[in-house]
Amino acid sequence: MALTNAISPATPAPLGQTRRATILGSTGSIGVNALDLIAASDGRYTVTALTANSNVALLAEQAHRHQPDFVAVADPNAYGDLKTALGGTGVQIAAGADAICEAASLSSDVVIAGIVGTAGLSPTLEAVRRGATVGLANKECLVSAGDLFIHEVKQHGATLLPVDSEHNAIFQVFDFEHPERVEKIILTASGGPFRDMSRASMMSVTPAEAVAHPNWSMGAKISVDSATMMNKGLELIEAFHLFPVETDQIEIVVHPQSVIHSMVAYVDGSVLAQMGSPDMRIPIGYALSWPDRMGTPAPRLDLAALGNLSFETPDFDRFPALRIARQALDCGGVAPTYLNAANEVAVKAFLDGRVRFLDIAHIVDTVLGQSQNETPVDLDDVMRHDANAREMAEGVVDAL
Ligand code: NAD
Ligand code: MG
Repeated sequence: MALTNAISPATPAPLGQTRRATILGSTGSIGVNALDLIAASDGRYTVTALTANSNVALLAEQAHRHQPDFVAVADPNAYGDLKTALGGTGVQIAAGADAICEAASLSSDVVIAGIVGTAGLSPTLEAVRRGATVGLANKECLVSAGDLFIHEVKQHGATLLPVDSEHNAIFQVFDFEHPERVEKIILTASGGPFRDMSRASMMSVTPAEAVAHPNWSMGAKISVDSATMMNKGLELIEAFHLFPVETDQIEIVVHPQSVIHSMVAYVDGSVLAQMGSPDMRIPIGYALSWPDRMGTPAPRLDLAALGNLSFETPDFDRFPALRIARQALDCGGVAPTYLNAANEVAVKAFLDGRVRFLDIAHIVDTVLGQSQNETPVDLDDVMRHDANAREMAEGVVDAL
């Protein structure tokens, strides 16, 4: 079967003196880390646009500091406060979902796509459609609309640089010129905060316990995804779309220290790994500076101090989200769209205290079981299925 997935890392972003960066989701964990790197770069980056959902206070502070041309907030009710906060600065301000897309459409050298969830799909595509270099942190858009998204990347000659640490690691060690030499890719998983917990104990875990990741500091949604291990399921699907491999060439291994960020195994038995401290500034810096490398303040690895790196087989019984995601990938078509949308609803319901931790996988499984066996024809079709899945998931939440 011809491989239709895979990004092409062939188009280097211009290596000028100064690069213009757009940060979508600048107030989130990814966005704040990206701006920290830019602030420490001695003026090698200027900021073209910043966007946020509703956190006007932080967005305005970032705009004062980085002097972007354009700032957008998704919540239309936040427009007045943002305008007041940025009065007299000359920064152009806009609000609403279209404004986020407008920010993405402005010419810049690199876009960091750090919006969480399917809300990131349209703005990221906007950047893709102008042939931008996109540092992709948002995994949900690849899970939800993978084939169509990659088609747009190829059609518009955009460059995708994975920011998700596992995919960034694979990107760094994958032989794109000779994909036939790759036997498999091995995604590492920390196992999350409940790696050793029994199902019985997981019954009563709280949102605060679920977002307390042992190794990584991240936004609430991805932290819960890490606790259910749905994050690794989403990353499995993400990897399938990013790299020229078949589904059965992607393996998951639990590696609690999060030092090896992922590996590529070659036909001769060699296994290449990318390592580093668990600090997102490393993959974000890689995307900001590719094909160059920039200095980052991330702690350096001290292997002797670490002592041991360990590995385990994932437990599909205690973490059914892994099995459910694999099933969605194998089904193909709209199944991953349903998986992603149902998961977004279920995680929010858990964070809002409406359902219990173990209900998350149950909700996703139920919605996936009711999904149609169709292939989406275009992005409107994806969004229609996404909306349908959300409605179904809300129904399951209400019935619990
Ligand atoms: P976060 O919740 O900390 O930040 C999300 C950002 O998106 C915020 O700026 C928020 O204002 C914005 N946003 C939310 N809803 C929006 C909407 N409807 N419209 C416009 N903007 C909206 O999330 P995060 O942890 O930074 O993660 C961002 C993405 O990166 C996710 O897809 C996540 O899976 C991925 N990712 C994150 C990490 C990490 O270390 N945080 C690692 C790997 C991948
Ligand atoms: Mg990851």
